[in-house]
Amino acid sequence: MSTLTKKSTEMQNNILIVEDDMAIREMMAFSLRREGFDTFKAASGHEALEQLNQVNPDLIVIDWGLPDMSGIDLIDMIRRDEVIREVPIIMLTARAEESDKVKGLERGADDYLTKPASMLELMARIRAHLRRSQGFEANHQIEYKGIVMDADAHEVSVDGELLSLSLTEYKLLKLFLQNPNKLLARDHILNHIWGRNTFVEDRTVDVHILRLRKALKKHNKEKWIQTVRGVGYKLINQ
Ligand code: CA
Repeated sequence: MSTLTKKSTEMQNNILIVEDDMAIREMMAFSLRREGFDTFKAASGHEALEQLNQVNPDLIVIDWGLPDMSGIDLIDMIRRDEVIREVPIIMLTARAEESDKVKGLERGADDYLTKPASMLELMARIRAHLRRSQGFEANHQIEYKGIVMDADAHEVSVDGELLSLSLTEYKLLKLFLQNPNKLLARDHILNHIWGRNTFVEDRTVDVHILRLRKALKKHNKEKWIQTVRGVGYKLINQ
């Protein structure tokens, strides 16, 4: 896929960069933004934890040596957190020793890059992990009874017709498609789409559900997003 195609899409993945070396942090952020990613930056473990209270990143790049804790400790905390435990993590380190690499992977990193890392290689790894983590099969599609989500094209079609969705509705539908027939609590949806941002009200979820239903209504599928009173929503075909 060309860079141009990437940029023209409205889908943007959020990447959190945890790195205390400002020059490296800025260079990574710059490269990622140029490739169409949204970036968030943290210079320490605590800054990263603060960021994670506000945003729900699609992937995290963590430097091994942070000023207030080790990258490994940060990974431990993330892996114990119910909301973000599944997020792909790429560990970045100046240490080239094989034993550290093994340790990082054993403790929950998904991948490992030795500094100075090539930005090209970092981008390639990030894309590979995002593809895998977002639950798409080899052809990058999820399908549920006539609804097809194509991750490469960032398109959704219903019974062969394109569905026009905003970014939030796209993410919402993706969450449903990844959890068909499963009750999703309102705060679960909120945490997954917006992060644990206290500025977002529960009602926001309802508003976007309404919009998603409206989009699906054109295809007579608005009833597929079922309200479970007082709890949340469920994607069900009936
Ligand atoms: Ca460092």
